[in-house]
Amino acid sequence: MNSNSLPIAFEITKKGIVTADGSLLDHISIDSRSLQNGKQTLFFALAGSNNDAHQYIPDLIQQGVQHFVVQHISPEYQNSAHFYVVQDTRKALQEVAAQYRELFHFPIIGITGSNGKTIVKEWLNFLLSPDFNVIRSPKSYNSQIGVPLSVLGINEKHNLGIFEAGISTINEMQQLQQIVQPTIGVLTNIGSAHDEGFTSREQKIIEKLQLFKNAEVIIYNKNSVVDLYLPKNIKALSWSFKDTTATVFLSKKEIDNGTQLLVTYEAIQFEVEIPFQDEASIENAVSALMVLLHLKYDAATIQQRMAMLYPVEMRLKVKNGINNCSLIDDSYSSDYQSLKIALDFLESQKQYQKKTIILSDIFQSGLPQEELYEKVAKLIVANKIDRVIGIGTTISQFQNQFSQATVYPDTASFIADFEQLDFSNETILIKGARSFAFEQIVQLLEEKTHETVLEINLNAITHNLNFFKSKLQADVKVMVMVKAFGYGNGGLEIAKLLEFNKVNYLGVAFADEGIVLKNGGIKVPIMVLNPESTSFSAIIQHGIEPEIYSLKGLQAFLKLAKQKDLSRFPIHIKIDTGMHRLGFEKDTIPDLIAALHDNEHVTVKSILSHLATSDDAKHFDFVQQQISLFDELSTQICNELKIKPFRHILNTSGISNFPNAQFDMVRLGIGLYGVSNDPEEQKKLENVGTLKSIISQIRTISAGESVGYGRRFMAEVPTKIATIPIGYADGISRAWGNEVGHVLIKNKKAPIIGSVCMDMLMVNVTDIDCSEGDIVVVFGENLSVTYIANRLHTIAYEVLTAISQRVKRVFYRV
Ligand SMILES: *Cc1c(COP(=O)(O)O)cnc(C)c1O
Repeated sequence: MNSNSLPIAFEITKKGIVTADGSLLDHISIDSRSLQNGKQTLFFALAGSNNDAHQYIPDLIQQGVQHFVVQHISPEYQNSAHFYVVQDTRKALQEVAAQYRELFHFPIIGITGSNGKTIVKEWLNFLLSPDFNVIRSPKSYNSQIGVPLSVLGINEKHNLGIFEAGISTINEMQQLQQIVQPTIGVLTNIGSAHDEGFTSREQKIIEKLQLFKNAEVIIYNKNSVVDLYLPKNIKALSWSFKDTTATVFLSKKEIDNGTQLLVTYEAIQFEVEIPFQDEASIENAVSALMVLLHLKYDAATIQQRMAMLYPVEMRLKVKNGINNCSLIDDSYSSDYQSLKIALDFLESQKQYQKKTIILSDIFQSGLPQEELYEKVAKLIVANKIDRVIGIGTTISQFQNQFSQATVYPDTASFIADFEQLDFSNETILIKGARSFAFEQIVQLLEEKTHETVLEINLNAITHNLNFFKSKLQADVKVMVMVKAFGYGNGGLEIAKLLEFNKVNYLGVAFADEGIVLKNGGIKVPIMVLNPESTSFSAIIQHGIEPEIYSLKGLQAFLKLAKQKDLSRFPIHIKIDTGMHRLGFEKDTIPDLIAALHDNEHVTVKSILSHLATSDDAKHFDFVQQQISLFDELSTQICNELKIKPFRHILNTSGISNFPNAQFDMVRLGIGLYGVSNDPEEQKKLENVGTLKSIISQIRTISAGESVGYGRRFMAEVPTKIATIPIGYADGISRAWGNEVGHVLIKNKKAPIIGSVCMDMLMVNVTDIDCSEGDIVVVFGENLSVTYIANRLHTIAYEVLTAISQRVKRVFYRV
């Protein structure tokens, strides 16, 4: 790292950063939306390609923040706070973290690889926390920004660190190495993730090994590339199921509900059972086991702890609760760092004014209890939590730290008192260490529906949004289309997330969709694509903005606007440039101009058109004509009316294929939900929705027996079949039945046999070791909506929006 990146007289100490004037800053922030600690905060204004944090400085000064690391200072606030100017704020943050890391001398496990990093990290944390005060990266904080922030979370009481590092292109690992400085390196599975950033798999491995260049030991699945490039001064601790020359040789055997591993290490041999059977979990478990061996754990402890490994749950799920509550389920961990994250999430997601937290004892802070609970109480006050329920003997002991908390010694006594607590119309964060079994509380509070759910990964949505934003020129605005219930993914929750991510506009198809969003508290302006004249009153009343596409509609709206004596009510003008769906055609433009001339009741906020084939190269000439015609007609309107509305024509594939036609705004739709029709681009998007169900019943039928209505499946041999409670009423096409389609069970294909029924379907599981209650994936990461759409001769849009509203949506962040 270039040491010039920090030309500031900061003294970096274990207590925090001391500035030249002697202020101690012990809170580092990069996110203007999360809670600031005022005077103690040092804010790094990062300037990313799609969000420049310098714009939030005035707000932050208002909130009491006094110290900023910036790339430039604006005269408007230069005298209101302290500014430290650097060339690159991100580099400065990394440099601060690297210097801070130098102050600590305990083992640090660094994890990198393409897959499994977060799981290995969480498992190591679980396996090692009985013996160490562990600091680990929260969630999957593994980026160029996440890693320094994680490292800055270290305090004097920690004695072991676990950090993951992710890279997407060459030369990034160098930076991360200096920040993490791992002493123990773990290389997890090298798959194809981020392959596009490297010229070869080999180059990717070499780059990843950079992280371990000063480590004492590296743990890896034995392979020749690593063997070749591993620096000689580092101890190699390899493992393998195939190569007996590996340091640790393993063999495996499937057992009931798990796998038995036979571990051979030096002269010893022992068996370990883990509760998983899939390839990926076995590999990740072995990586964790290797760390235990390196740390000289004995076989008995390893056996005992590995048997207790659990599926790493998705954190921070948002669920619908009983009595109109909304739940944030974080029932798998409780440490100070993740409490902060969960409270931030609560703030961004809250659907009700009233906020409640149910919190267990907190572990692994490294701080004395007294100090810890004082900090927790402060955090809770600052986040304006209305109701605090503490569960556990320690938190009970510190009850008086909280202004008003109800406490229970354990989960059972809380449950006994459940009825008295009258949960209703509140957002409840449920946050507890595993040992408190808060999943029982979640179960009590959760609204009960049938077992099919559509899980929506909110982080993937943010990722996809940022991916498309990075394709935009500076100052181009983003409207996100959330019509049809967010393309089937959920309207209000996604709108809230988008608002949080500061998109400029939302677009819906019909007025009532917009009204639902407004009633849900959405403040971002909303455009309605297809406002019927009958809905104009409601549109005006709720302050949503109509797209006007015909003279008739314009006259009706103007008449109403005059009656209601509106002043400059925002409208959007749609021009038909070749789609021939909605919009003013060229020859009606003079009438449009005449009608709007000198009309003070409305204002033209934007002018738009829609492309007919932005995804099909054989029609790109036609698209160019549409774009030129749009430019011509919109310019004519602007000139003659002397107005400067913003102009927009691109949808998702338009953004990808016509970078020169961004005008002032783009309208992102399907791409946000992780679907692209360009296979290269598809690789860069993250999967958003996973439609899951369970196996209700399993039976074996004999040769000659049939399955389902119309007996369309006839067994030729004895066949094991499973019934899944999802059918065409949930949105599964009947065309997907009769062995055209399949579902995934334990990541294996189970063909759908017979006809899809209204509420159920049957699959062939003869070759799959599965039981009733097992999870079934209907679509998701490994069975994509695009694949299904292609096989059904339709488009992903239809498959997604077909999923009926009776399927419960569950939102989560990883
Ligand atoms: C749906 C829609 C979009 C978004 O299209 P995608 O292909 O999903 O990106 C943009 N503009 C209009 C007018 C739309 O109806």
